[in-house]
Amino acid sequence: MGKLNRLSQLFNLKPPPSPTTSQPSPLSTTPLVKTPHPWEGNLPCVFGPNDGCNLHNRPRATIFFDPLLFPPSSGKPKPSGNHPPVPGPSPNAPPAIHSHLPQQPHLGCLTPLPRIHKSVPYAPAFYHVALVLDALRAGAAPPLGILSCAAATGANPRLVWSARACVAGLDGGMASSSLLLEYAVTFPLSADLGDWDPSMTHARTYRKEVLIGSGYRDFQLCPHMMLSFRSHWGAGKDGVRTAGVKFVYAVRREGESKGEWTSEGSTEGEEEMEGMCCGKCWTDGYLGFRMVPGGKVVVSVRVYKDLGQGLHPSDVKFVSVATGAEVERREADFGRMRRRFLEMDEGETKGEEGEGGWI
Ligand SMILES: [Zn+2]
Ligand SMILES: [Zn+2]
Repeated sequence: MGKLNRLSQLFNLKPPPSPTTSQPSPLSTTPLVKTPHPWEGNLPCVFGPNDGCNLHNRPRATIFFDPLLFPPSSGKPKPSGNHPPVPGPSPNAPPAIHSHLPQQPHLGCLTPLPRIHKSVPYAPAFYHVALVLDALRAGAAPPLGILSCAAATGANPRLVWSARACVAGLDGGMASSSLLLEYAVTFPLSADLGDWDPSMTHARTYRKEVLIGSGYRDFQLCPHMMLSFRSHWGAGKDGVRTAGVKFVYAVRREGESKGEWTSEGSTEGEEEMEGMCCGKCWTDGYLGFRMVPGGKVVVSVRVYKDLGQGLHPSDVKFVSVATGAEVERREADFGRMRRRFLEMDEGETKGEEGEGGWI
């Protein structure tokens, strides 16, 4: 935190024209009737019997997969896009998921979150959220491992992605604990400057590249916020290599703003831009850039979501992030989920059992 934030003003978009469109969706009060015999669910990274991430199915062995758990609109399951298998056995057997929640699709227990990127195969559903928080409320260790995934895609550029979850206590104690999710995606960009190198102090060169393979440039941070990378460039001048990335941040029905990051004047470490927080659902976005040796720029996109209390699939937080039903989220809440993960990484939550922080 506290790093250069010079483009955040670009994200000061106009408020929505009509406040009447952002009322919370009505909560269903239908109680959930649990099934006496548990059924087996998929891990959030599994879209076929030989699928999974490097944490859950490193060799891509055959594991449980039920196509009935995916909504009809998603059609026939396709290969997830995960990078090919890594030889060798899985360090651990994939965890099994047993749920007592009702399976009728209209009740929403099977509804997965939309993907944040078409080549990141990760779609947790309400039954995953409920499993973690039910265990917590029963006094057991919450099985956060079912939501922790990591893999890379074979796409060009290669995306390295991971996801993890934590439980955060809210006012009211454990009963109102909420499940938070973090996605982290990174990819490298590098413009080809031919034979230019920093020892050529009198040579100048410039190259612009239009991004990225079609379909790979768009990140749907939530149903309302889209981050699209458009182009990047590299330049060599006075023995110094610089780079830049152009992107567009768009909010549904509010318009879009253009942004450009350049390595000129940037210091060591990651340069970050904040301000991509959704006022219509519980999602916060983050964008970071880092120049690494060899002239590559590593782009980092992180997305944080509050998935709610896991008591009912009509939970207003879960519904907002899963379906895009608009709510009015207070600005004071912006950035909360990211701060929670940062605090956890800094070890500040050690020993605060009951407040969350399991990972
Ligand atoms: Zn996984
Ligand atoms: Zn949103």
